[in-house]
Amino acid sequence: MQKAIAVLSLLLGGFSCRGEESQWYKGNTHTHTFWSDGDDFPEMVADWYKNHGYDFLVLSDHNVLSQGEKWKALRADQANVAIKKAEQRWGSGHVKTRIVDGAKEVKLLPLDQVRRLLEEPDKFIMIEGLEMTTSRGGLAVHSNPMNVSELLPVERESERNVEQELNTHMHLVNEYSQVSGKPVFWQVNHPNFRFSVTGEQLANVDFLEGVEIMNSSSNCFNLGDGTRPSVEGIWDIANTIRLKSEGQPPIYGTATDDTHDYHLENPAVNGPGTAWVMVRAESLTPNAITRAMKEGDFYSSTGVLLKTMEFDPSRKTLTVEVDAEPGVHYKIEFKGSLSSVSLAHEPVAAIVDEKGVAHPVTANYLDESIGKTFKSKKGTRATYRMKGDELFVRAVVHCDGPPYFKYDDYSDFEKKAWTQPVGWKIDR
Ligand SMILES: [Zn+2]
Ligand SMILES: [Zn+2]
Repeated sequence: MQKAIAVLSLLLGGFSCRGEESQWYKGNTHTHTFWSDGDDFPEMVADWYKNHGYDFLVLSDHNVLSQGEKWKALRADQANVAIKKAEQRWGSGHVKTRIVDGAKEVKLLPLDQVRRLLEEPDKFIMIEGLEMTTSRGGLAVHSNPMNVSELLPVERESERNVEQELNTHMHLVNEYSQVSGKPVFWQVNHPNFRFSVTGEQLANVDFLEGVEIMNSSSNCFNLGDGTRPSVEGIWDIANTIRLKSEGQPPIYGTATDDTHDYHLENPAVNGPGTAWVMVRAESLTPNAITRAMKEGDFYSSTGVLLKTMEFDPSRKTLTVEVDAEPGVHYKIEFKGSLSSVSLAHEPVAAIVDEKGVAHPVTANYLDESIGKTFKSKKGTRATYRMKGDELFVRAVVHCDGPPYFKYDDYSDFEKKAWTQPVGWKIDR
């Protein structure tokens, strides 16, 4: 983990203004446990992340907070492996069990007990959250509000369409944030999981702050499927529409593990530790981390770390410097859209799957300046000076280090880093 003190500058349309020293903190904002469909105890999950250099973790189980008393029936294979590991780690008798109707159940620790076991000031914290999970036919609307301590209840199956369901999630998050007074960072998860959410739909959600541009669990089609665009492409389209025609700030891109499986031999897909965020915050507290993410003061990574990420609004420069690994070569790209961009597009018909479910598709935008590469430079440090005709600019860092896994042609396991869009202005 990088503990270098970040260089600060006055920032606009991008990273925040901070008046004091801040640090980089590594975290995962999307993780599952036995509280829903993950395959390990919450304290084991948190222990894994803490032992692998993470500073914070959000447990985001489906439609549930880890609160109160919960007993869970485990499959025999899960029970044997998980209970054995938990008792090795925490001592025999750690896992409470009971038999109900002939089936073995285990008692799950609520978050406050997990915190007592693992949290350490300035070293590791848990941030409370959940994955609001709605299915609509064969489509999935999943979103994570981070830093909430009340259940935001959504219907597991909904008759509402994707737009209406996204708005339902949004209203619940907004109301919670207003009533509680707490900062909440809200992201839409894996738009290409079941090809459920389009760029236009993301563009139209008020108050949306984040979208997963990289989710390393299976079937998330981060690179699209050859017909439908990559999530990174969808992200650029959504942000171009928001800034150009809707007077809305851009959505920030997150990378997450969405971990479900903790007992794999090769943990690249569904396992922990492959996609995360690096957040620049004043302190390691749930509110400080969440506030920094709301301000876009973070980058996403699948293995490339940055020494410098600075946007200087007076000089209109975005500078990125890689924390280079020996023997690895880097390429830094600056991408964005032009202010003069045309949003002219051809609609693309929904794709109907073998079950008869119609999956909406992001339109075909005709102007090549959406998500255009403004500059590409080999090396570990590069600066882009805005010319004044950009709607926004962001950086993405590639490297020739080995990808850690190849799952299929549509999942991306290249080691990369992505900064957030900067240099944008909203005309209201
Ligand atoms: Zn999900
Ligand atoms: Zn998930």
